[in-house]
Amino acid sequence: MPKETFKYTNGEITVIWKPHVCIHSKKCWTNLRAVFDPFVKPWINMQGATTEQIITQVNQCPSGALSIENNQEHS
Ligand code: SF4
Repeated sequence: MPKETFKYTNGEITVIWKPHVCIHSKKCWTNLRAVFDPFVKPWINMQGATTEQIITQVNQCPSGALSIENNQEHS
């Protein structure tokens, strides 16, 4: 089965989420619920915080399931 990757962008950055890597530590949605909310769809709301806040939270993901792509790097 192919391993799925989901992408969420706010225009500046793209958050990449790999569900098969996620260990459901709940860190992201405990700390930044305005962005990471597993009870709504899509579960990552890129308008819920600043780019800086999102990057800080993504960097705290213990499994590496969340990562960031800088949109400017591709232009
Ligand atoms: S912090 Fe990372 S490992 Fe934990 S629930 Fe969020 S995505 Fe999954």
